[in-house]
Amino acid sequence: MTTPQKVGAGETATLLKNRLVGLREELARMDAMQQQAMAAGLAERLRTDIRKTEAALDRVAAGSYGECCRYAAEIPAARLAADPAAPFCADCVKG
Ligand SMILES: [Zn+2]
Repeated sequence: MTTPQKVGAGETATLLKNRLVGLREELARMDAMQQQAMAAGLAERLRTDIRKTEAALDRVAAGSYGECCRYAAEIPAARLAADPAAPFCADCVKG
């Protein structure tokens, strides 16, 4: 089997190699951006959880913990077990 001799094969290889370098750099940048976006999303979720938990602590201090923030109805124990910082009963979350 013979390798076809093409004019400019070396240049083509260089072009492709440069393109590969560029593509790999772009992929690395995308990976970094995705990781940043994921980290930002996680941090935002943690901040929300912290605010919810602080608000729940305030309600404990105020003696209103376990009451729905909307209609002062009881939040079912199972719901509080699943999310101890839940501010609303399931009905209010749905509505
Ligand atoms: Zn409610």
